[in-house]
Formats: sequence, C-alpha cells, structure tokens
Amino acid sequence: MARTSGLRPSRILGVDVGATKLSAAVVDADGRVLSHGGRTLHRNEGPDGVIRDLLQVIRKALGDGPPPEGIGVGVAGQVEAVTGTVRHAPNLRWTNFPLGTRLSSEFGCPVFVANDVRAATVGEWRHGAGKGTTNLLCLFVGTGVGGSAVVDGRLLEGAANALGEVGHTVLVSGGRACHCPAQGCLEAYVGGWAIAERARERVRIDPTGGAELLRRAGSVGAIEARTVAEAAHGRDPLALEIMRETAGYLGSGVAGLVNAFNPARLLLGGGVIEGSPELVDAVAERVRTDCQPPAAAAVRVMRVSLGHDAILIGAAELARDQLGTRPFAAREVRREPDKLRGAGDRAELQAVKRGRLRRPGPAN
Ligand SMILES: [Zn+2]
Repeated sequence: MARTSGLRPSRILGVDVGATKLSAAVVDADGRVLSHGGRTLHRNEGPDGVIRDLLQVIRKALGDGPPPEGIGVGVAGQVEAVTGTVRHAPNLRWTNFPLGTRLSSEFGCPVFVANDVRAATVGEWRHGAGKGTTNLLCLFVGTGVGGSAVVDGRLLEGAANALGEVGHTVLVSGGRACHCPAQGCLEAYVGGWAIAERARERVRIDPTGGAELLRRAGSVGAIEARTVAEAAHGRDPLALEIMRETAGYLGSGVAGLVNAFNPARLLLGGGVIEGSPELVDAVAERVRTDCQPPAAAAVRVMRVSLGHDAILIGAAELARDQLGTRPFAAREVRREPDKLRGAGDRAELQAVKRGRLRRPGPAN
C-alpha cells in the first residue's frame, strides 16, 4: 500500500500470538503501551479457536476508542511477509494460515505479520536495550532458542524470510538429539526443554546427588528448567553443575555468533535467561575470552529490557514502518552521549558521522 507522508500513524495495535499465550495493546510511536488487552492463554486447538480468543483480546485493547490505523502481529512461526500468511508454525500447529487477511477483513485496516523473535528484536532495537545501535543481535533462550540480527541498520530476513534459526546451529557434531532433524544443536543443550532433559538424566543416574531436584519437583519426570535454576540459586551442587555446563554451551554458541555478526550489542532474553540472569555475565566472559579480539572488544552483552511486551511493541513498530515514513536509527545514534557507549557503538557513531554507514530508512 502507498505510504502516507509526514507523521507516522499513531493508533497502531501490536499483537503477540505465541504457542500458548496471546496479547494485544495499542502502542504509540515512542513504544509506549497505551491500552493493554491483557495476556491470555489459548488452548492451541487450531487457528479458528486461537483467532476467536485473539479477537477478544484485541477488542479489549481497543476499548471504546477508534479503530486502529494498522495492526502489527508477531507470531511464533515462519511468515510470508508480503501476504501475512503463517507458513509454518509447529508450536501452534498452523500451516499456511492467512492470519493477515483474517485480521485485516475483521478490522478494516492493513495488517503486517512477522516472526515473533524478529518482532521482539525490533522492539528492543527501537525502544529497549538495543536502542541507539545499528548492529544488534538478539538471542531468546526459552523453551526453544531463536535469534535475529540487525546489521548496519538493517533487519536481516534471509532468502525465505526464515533467518534467525540460530538455535539449530550444531554445537556438538553427533551430539544430543534435537527437536529438529539434526543432532547436537545449541537448542538441544540450552533450550528449556533440553536443560530439563539433561537434569532428568543426571538424576536418574545419581538419585543421591539429585535428591534436592527430586524434592523440589516431586518426581524425575516433573523436573523442569525452572527447577534447576531455582535449585542452583539454593546452592544445590548438581543444579549448579548443570547450570555451569549450560553457561558453557550458551557461551560457545554466542561466541560463534559474535564472530559471525560482529554486533555492537548482543541481547539475551527468554524464560531461561529470566530464570537465571547470571547466565548473561557468564556468556559475556566467554565472549571476552573466546572471540576474535576486534569482535570481542566491540560487543556488549546485555539483557533485553522490554520483558513480555517486546513482541507486541516491535510488531507495532514494524506496522508503523510500513505505514509511514521515518528515518530512524541514525538519529537515535546521535541522541545518546558517547560515554554511555561501548567500543562498537562508538565506532558506529564515527562511521555515521563520516557518512560511511548507510543511514537506515524505513523498511522497503
Ligand atoms: Zn535442532
């Protein structure tokens, strides 16, 4: 559709369609949530049921206000950006579902659909811990592991709009079985499901050493990643060992990404990081010792800052980009004082000033 000139549209709805949860909110141009429709669990019984629940959440977010000028949706799956069709969403069990068209006909406005990790990355980039940089990597370590990259001010998409499956880069050749066809993936060691699986194996082998994990969970099968994190915070030796190993795997995976992408900031988020925030420091240390020196010197490893709303804030931002015009990142780079920046951010700032770095414009 044709872009409007001048101001960016103001009444934009951001939507988060996760594997188990839905949320929606009206988000302003500064990334502030104006009206939240709440977070609700869905029963994952196919698209029709999820859409029914989603419409309720959206209507609650809109309240008695005017209809939205546009809707941005972050969805846990791979998306065809042009049509808004969800091609493949294994956790939602959707294939080729025309989510964009359904919402567009319901609300009579343009709808833009993106992968949820990519939406969250945009949220953090524009309004969170990634603000002001033009080289950003986000890694979300939850049940699964997903990532997204902004390189020289451009959000990377890949040949089939599927870039970012960094959880399935192989860390250990012939290693642990993954949920994908490969073995030894990063996710098969640090994803929430994998931490739980590793812990259960250890407790089965050594019930005495695993007594504290067993006591907390009630049974071996009930041990979750969260159980391990909590026991580690209680100084249980086995849980501490499992989390040390997890930090090692995650650090190795992240070090490879830092070498490959040379980000100025690497943001870590997701349930596993929320449960064990100390992983961030461990990863930063591994990056410092293992990465190529120029890449290691340029990057700051940090936690994400927008929490659960990152996806809907970023999705709204993507919709806003499509609907309006707005030069963004170069202006942001100039706004913050140099002293707050790491070496990579300072180098970027100099490159922008010298005109050697393309000033990022709106998505096109
Ligand atoms: Zn895998």
